[in-house]
Amino acid sequence: MAQSKKGKLNYRCPSCFIRDIDIDMFYDEKKKEYYCLRCCFHGSEEEVLRLNDMLKFRYKWMEKRVLDFGDDDKAPKVEDYKGEEEK
Ligand SMILES: [Zn+2]
Repeated sequence: MAQSKKGKLNYRCPSCFIRDIDIDMFYDEKKKEYYCLRCCFHGSEEEVLRLNDMLKFRYKWMEKRVLDFGDDDKAPKVEDYKGEEEK
């Protein structure tokens, strides 16, 4: 592990992040990929970006308001949240 070093950009580990652990990965110059010291995840920059982008699904609805959760087999109804309505 003495060779471990950070890449030019720090990316968080998508595999750890899904378990609510926010940890930076290291970069392997030879393999041209990022890897995590905490779990077994490793992947190219594209892969990391794609996975981290996918993880945004957790926060996708941060700016939405759920109107109706509906039935389990249907998507909930949402609208853009515009802040509290004036009363
Ligand atoms: Zn990890």
